[in-house]
Amino acid sequence: MAEPLRNTDDGDRPGRGAGHRGGDRTGPGGGRPAGGRAAEPAEAQDAARLWADVVATARRTVADGLVVGTSGNVSARLGDLVLVTPSGVPYDRLTPADLTGVDLTGRQVLGTLVPTSELPLHLAVYRTTDARAVVHTHAVHATAVSTLVPELPSVHYMAAALGGPVRVAPYAAYGTDELAGNMLGALAGRSGCLLQNHGTITYGATLDQAYDRTAQLEWMCRLWLTASSVPGLAPSLLTEAQLAEVGERLKGYGQRR
Ligand SMILES: [Zn+2]
Repeated sequence: MAEPLRNTDDGDRPGRGAGHRGGDRTGPGGGRPAGGRAAEPAEAQDAARLWADVVATARRTVADGLVVGTSGNVSARLGDLVLVTPSGVPYDRLTPADLTGVDLTGRQVLGTLVPTSELPLHLAVYRTTDARAVVHTHAVHATAVSTLVPELPSVHYMAAALGGPVRVAPYAAYGTDELAGNMLGALAGRSGCLLQNHGTITYGATLDQAYDRTAQLEWMCRLWLTASSVPGLAPSLLTEAQLAEVGERLKGYGQRR
């Protein structure tokens, strides 16, 4: 079992130490969940597989430089169950036994590690969209942009892949319902947004899609910062109509069978 660290924002939850929640520790392979309902074997297998994907995606955010330490979090939905990375545990230490699951109200139903302190963000997305996966990071270029503008200027057509110009949700303290509310406003009609002076959040139908949207968002922010940093010049921007046209074409993009 991984031991949580206490040196990140996500790990700093006074009075709520990881590993001291009531209930027996259970994993997906057997035993009773903390919530009391015995998981069916098939459900447990699905949860175990999805947990492995959640952990792999979280590790990828670190390997690709989108997250430093444990300053981000990843979740995926399986029916009414949300698997989510725990608070303050380095992703390379997470094992199958660390599976952490909550219901859509945030009640812990699997595992004993404390879920990420950003749980309200993840749950707000699942309650209001058809998301099956959510990725949250403090990626450096995206976070830099979140301190400069209320909306990422449309320097590239890939903004259409996120539903249009990417908004910045007004600042509120991490882990609060206020931040979740601000985020939902910025996400209207979008599959990703920036959180002012904080980071990124994207969602998708799969963990890969949510991850790719975060990577694209960080890349677009880096692109705008690069283009707008040339003295005496300002980048040309795409119109809403140009983005909408690309949005239509992206719906049919990909390998044809
Ligand atoms: Zn955060």
